[in-house]
Amino acid sequence: RNPRVFSTTANNVATARRLPVGVRKKPLRVVVTGGAGFVGSHLVDKLLARGDSVIVVDNFFTGRKENLAHHLTNPRFELIRHDVVEPILLEVDQIYHLACPASPVHYKFNPIKTIKTNVMGTLNMLGLAKRVGARFLLTSTSEVYGDPLEHPQKESYWGHVNPIGVRSCYDEGKRTAETLTMDYHRGAGVEVRIARIFNTYGPRMCLDDGRVVSNFVAQTLRKQPMTVYGDGKQTRSFQYVSDLVDGLITLMESKYIGPFNLGNPGEFTMLELAQVVKETIDPSASVEFKPNTADDPHMRKPDISKAKSLLHWEPKVSLRQGLSRMVSDFQKRILDEK
Ligand code: NAD
Ligand code: UDP
Ligand code: UDP
Repeated sequence: RNPRVFSTTANNVATARRLPVGVRKKPLRVVVTGGAGFVGSHLVDKLLARGDSVIVVDNFFTGRKENLAHHLTNPRFELIRHDVVEPILLEVDQIYHLACPASPVHYKFNPIKTIKTNVMGTLNMLGLAKRVGARFLLTSTSEVYGDPLEHPQKESYWGHVNPIGVRSCYDEGKRTAETLTMDYHRGAGVEVRIARIFNTYGPRMCLDDGRVVSNFVAQTLRKQPMTVYGDGKQTRSFQYVSDLVDGLITLMESKYIGPFNLGNPGEFTMLELAQVVKETIDPSASVEFKPNTADDPHMRKPDISKAKSLLHWEPKVSLRQGLSRMVSDFQKRILDEK
């Protein structure tokens, strides 16, 4: 452990705890793995805006340089092409570990790579955190609850997960990542934080990543029918990306390890979501039904009472507001394709 780095961290964190999110006296050196992706790039915007120095580590599997193009000339910003499955040496105060494909289409594309990213990638970032005394935040997922038998889901629920199914590379991968995180905390004294993120949407999602919100919005803007899988009665709870970024930073700066559910408790069936997209974007939009994928969870809704009471965090943006905020970004990128 480098004592100089460690004491800097301790001082900064102590300062940060007394200040509201977004206000800070001394800049931190922060790594964001997966920072070229959808959530990561919004997090980087906010960290740079409050004065931190940010290093993004990304292999560009699903991330894009365009998501960070506006920071490339900022001297406090650095972009490293690197795969977290390989070790890396950096000197930093905080690590936000996001690197991992999040859309089912992407994480099923190469499932062995997905589980390696979750296990070896998380191990390397925890090894790094241990060596330099950095605080480490894992972006876990509501998928750790599997096809839940408890509804809504509390953090105390252990989940209902198929260990040998086509989604296991992701949900069992994240469960192992949570285990590693807690073992580095208990065994090596690493300061850790765990966020369990529920379905999140917003500008910069990949246009064709197969997730339901990006699919419905892109399909409607292209005047194609929205593809509803199965009977469309399965539910999800959709969180706008700025609410998630506020939650991640609040958790990192807090004194609590978690896990914390970070999601919007508003629950919608896929048919209801299609109706909201229709009303918000194009009243002439239509739907078509397609067969559902294997092991699709039937329902999902976060119980966020823990985050509300301990972190004083809750989402602010409704589904209708959030959808209208992502339309211009999607519209522009769809036009650029032509
Ligand atoms: P994303 O696919 O847009 O971003 C993931 C980023 O990680 C990409 O930039 C990708 O290139 C990078 N990456 C993937 N494998 C890597 C590797 N081996 N080495 C280095 N970089 C790698 O996904 P997102 O929606 O921004 O999700 C970010 C994180 O949040 C993920 O860990 C995901 O599991 C978690 N999460 C997201 C959601 C959601 O709804 N968006 C829900 C639950 C959890
Ligand atoms: N690691 C890394 N960067 C560092 C320190 C460690 O990538 O700055 C990697 C290291 O290569 C190892 C993993 O993190 O694969 C776990 O490191 P740790 O020191 O906990 O375990 P050990 O190397 O003793 O097996
Ligand atoms: N879904 C859908 N149409 C699509 C894409 C997805 O009806 O074009 C459904 C999917 O079957 C699932 C829900 O939307 O029930 C959420 O899927 P997504 O891939 O966005 O995220 P998940 O929560 O499954 O990780």
